[in-house]
Amino acid sequence: MRHPITGQDFDSPVPPGTGWPGDPADARTTVAHSAPDVERLAATGGVHDLDARSSVCRACPRLVEWREQVAREKRAAFADQPYWGRPVASLGDVAPRLLVVGLAPAAHGANRTGRMFTGDRSGDWIHAALFRAGFATQPESVHAGDGLELVGARIVAPVRCAPPGNAPTPLERHTCAPWLDRDLELAAPTLTGILALGGIGWAATVGAALRLGWTVPRPRPKFTHGAEAELGSPHGPIRLVGSYHVSQQNTFTRRLTEPMLDAALARAAGGPRRRDDRGLAGVYAGEAPVAQPAEASHLKWPKCGFESRRGYRSRNDHRTAPQEPWGTRRSMRALTPVTRLPSEGTHP
Ligand code: SF4
Repeated sequence: MRHPITGQDFDSPVPPGTGWPGDPADARTTVAHSAPDVERLAATGGVHDLDARSSVCRACPRLVEWREQVAREKRAAFADQPYWGRPVASLGDVAPRLLVVGLAPAAHGANRTGRMFTGDRSGDWIHAALFRAGFATQPESVHAGDGLELVGARIVAPVRCAPPGNAPTPLERHTCAPWLDRDLELAAPTLTGILALGGIGWAATVGAALRLGWTVPRPRPKFTHGAEAELGSPHGPIRLVGSYHVSQQNTFTRRLTEPMLDAALARAAGGPRRRDDRGLAGVYAGEAPVAQPAEASHLKWPKCGFESRRGYRSRNDHRTAPQEPWGTRRSMRALTPVTRLPSEGTHP
């Protein structure tokens, strides 16, 4: 079947390295077949390696079967299109100021188009907001290959395969977590803000910060729309801001409006920013790197005798390590068997 933008023929799911726009992998990319594989492959390499390896991952048998079944069977409205049918890699700038943390690909959205928040209504919302804030080159996100670029922003997901019923299991979220951890770790040197979409995106971000040994306020910050918390990375403080998810359920009912989303995005981005001649405000020519404020010095890492998985030292590692919400057997037992995500087709 022909790609709707390029007209090239593809199988569904799409084999890596066959020409799909933005495909970060090729036939030689190492494939993860288990949770230890994911942990090992996510621990090394740069952003391109991360994107390539995560886009061919097969570590969760149930999700692999589901995403590929959806890709073969398709929805009637897209019956003439090839489906990506693989994990969806993060989208955007390799050195972002702003990270947007979503949930998981939608079966007929990103699982079809192969790009985060692309091909469904929730994508229309977040990309329009990123465009208004100067982080996107266009307000629409129709399909991979449509010309969209994010500048200064990167969109990531805690679970990178479309889950049946929009409900990944705790084990699947735990297996996928190293990809998210690595995204945060690689972004940290330039990162100043994170916009977490929904309570699951918020919890995933806090969990990743804890696993990375970043400082997280105590008591643990709770999600609500407009909630804010400061995370302490080795490179300085990062502002975490919560927003209701851009799901159809939230936007149709006006629980989330455009001004609400714009305000949360502006807070996460550090307020209104000067734009370049393309109208982009993310990372623009001529601007010096963002200096870390002097107060950040208290977030440096004094030795405390405990070393986290990533090798960072944190003054409260000894308190935070046993409380990782997604990263430990203890926390997995505390979770309900399945956490439901917003309704089908309403998230990245
Ligand atoms: S959900 Fe994550 S860990 Fe599981 S198969 Fe997909 S990319 Fe791999």
